[in-house]
Parts: sequence; structure tokens; C-alpha cells
Amino acid sequence: MDINWNTNLYGLIGNPINKSLSPKIHNFIFNSLDLNNVYLAFDVEKENLQKAIEGFKVIRVKGFNVTIPFKQEIMKYLDEIDSKAKIIGAVNTVKNENGKLVGYNTDGDGFLQVFQEEGIEIPGKNILLIGAGGAAYAIGSTLALNNVATITIANRNQDNALNLKEHLRSISNNMNMETSDLNLFNLNKKEVDMIINTTSIGMYPMENLAPIELNGFTDNIVVYDIIYKPKETKLLERARFHNYKTINGIHMLLNQAILSQKIWNREKCKINSKKMEEIKGFLDFM
Ligand code: NAP
Repeated sequence: MDINWNTNLYGLIGNPINKSLSPKIHNFIFNSLDLNNVYLAFDVEKENLQKAIEGFKVIRVKGFNVTIPFKQEIMKYLDEIDSKAKIIGAVNTVKNENGKLVGYNTDGDGFLQVFQEEGIEIPGKNILLIGAGGAAYAIGSTLALNNVATITIANRNQDNALNLKEHLRSISNNMNMETSDLNLFNLNKKEVDMIINTTSIGMYPMENLAPIELNGFTDNIVVYDIIYKPKETKLLERARFHNYKTINGIHMLLNQAILSQKIWNREKCKINSKKMEEIKGFLDFM
């Protein structure tokens, strides 16, 4: 990488960020597209978020991603928010547009693209959505916008589940919505088409745990865990044991990163299928 006076700075802001794969992914993409850009991770204390954003503006950072715990809080420090990010209620990508910081969200579309790649239809499906945190908001909102039949939100904290239910209700009135705890006692498991885990149960330091038991579901369900490290969580390992179709979080991670790159550099971000295979190969290797 040849860094010079003309190198553009991109980055990630979060706390903690020490497990993030984003710097590796984005720098790999910048290099493979021959762009004079560099991507760094910034671990920012919660009380310094506003100062950090002002600093990014002053030094003309071109764009950055936002991760836990700032995806919602950052919205009040931005100059504009794109309509989809407003619906989701969170921002994961910011672009400096001639001095104005504009917020976007690529998590929902990155998640959705995986179904297109796998040839799986979403409208009319009954979804068991595990979790009610930031990722569940992006994914739940995307599912609501794509006409699923039912979303059952299973979460440890029932207030958080109810808040997410309210949020999704404000997006769509046309679907059934339920909440549950992680024991799923009131759920008719035979009606579930797809299980989506958006909790951090399954990643370090909970890599030996699964958020729910997998007994009682039908044979043709899809189990999608958005965790990307480890690539096969305990939930996916058990799903594979039952011969269920499984999807891990790597491709969502890659898709949302590419969508961020397209927001930052629309004309220059030309990723054909060969380049995509190269990037996927790089990710498989990590
Ligand atoms: P978050 O806002 O902190 O939400 C965490 C969720 O996990 C909440 O539902 C929380 O439940 C639940 N949880 C955490 N610890 C738990 C425990 N010990 N027992 C039961 N429930 C627990 O985090 P997030 O931003 O939504 O991210 C969640 C996961 O998604 C992370 O693993 C992240 O790496 C992954 N992710 C992947 C991608 C991708 O591109 N593949 C993108 C975004 C996020 P409570 O409400 O009860 O606290």
C-alpha cells in the first residue's frame, strides 16, 4: 500500500472494535480496486462520540462505518439521514458529502442480498427473530418492508422485545407480530419457516452456547446466524446435525461492506463476479 499526501481516509468508529474484520475487508477492497484509500479503526470512548465526529469533519475523513454501541446515538450528530436509515432507526455508514455528514444503513440490504444469492423467497414467510438489539432492528425492519407473514421476536429482555415490536408495527401493519422469551414455550414451532439469530450468543465469550434449543421444528427450515466469528456457531452446528439449511454471517458482513463502498465511491466501486470471488476467498481464508 502506497500511502501519500493524496490518500483518502476512511474508518470505523465503535467501542470495542478489537474483534472487527472491517479494516481487513475494506483495505482489501481498496487495494483490489486500486484506490488510493486507507481504512482505520477508531476505538472511541462513549463520552467522546460528538468530539470524534466533529474531528472527522474537520480533517475531512471521506467516510466511515459505525458499530456497537453508536449506531443509534450517532444519528443526532449527523447533518442528514437517508430515508432507509431513518426507517431502521440506526446508521452504520456515513459519507462526507462536500462537508456534510450523511448517514446510511447497509445492514438490512446486506442481510437481504444473502437470500437473493441463495434463491430463498422472503414474502409470506413465518420468521423467528432471536434478539432485539441493533442488528435485530435493521433485520426486523427489512423483513417488515419485504412482506413477511409473521415475526416472532424471542429475546432475553422482554421490554426490549416489546420495543422492537412497536418499532416494526410502525413500519408495517400487515404482519402478525409476537414476542417470546428464549424458551419459546408459546411458539408453534411447526409453523416457523426461518430462524434468524441476531444475538451475540454464539460468539466469544459465549461460543459454546446456542440461544435456543432446535427440537420441534420442521425439516425444511432455514437457520441463519448473523454471527461471522466463529463461522459455524453452536446454533449452526446443531442445525447442520438436523440437516437444516444453514447460513452464517460472513456474506452479510461482506455485502454490507460492499454496499458501504458503493455509497462512498459509486463510480469507482466496480466489483464484478471475479472480484467478488476473490474477496470471498480472502474472507474464507481469515
Ligand atoms: P446489541 O445491540 O448489543 O444486541 C445484543 C442482543 O443479544 C440483544 O438482543 C441481547 O439481549 C442479546 N444478548 C446479549 N448477551 C446475551 C446473553 N448473555 N443472554 C441472552 N441474550 C443476550 O448487538 P447487535 O449490534 O445487535 O449485534 C448482535 C450480533 O450480531 C453480534 O454478534 C454482531 O457481531 C452480529 N452482527 C453481524 C453482522 C454481520 O454483518 N454479519 C452485522 C451486525 C451485527 P437483551 O435485549 O436481553 O440484552
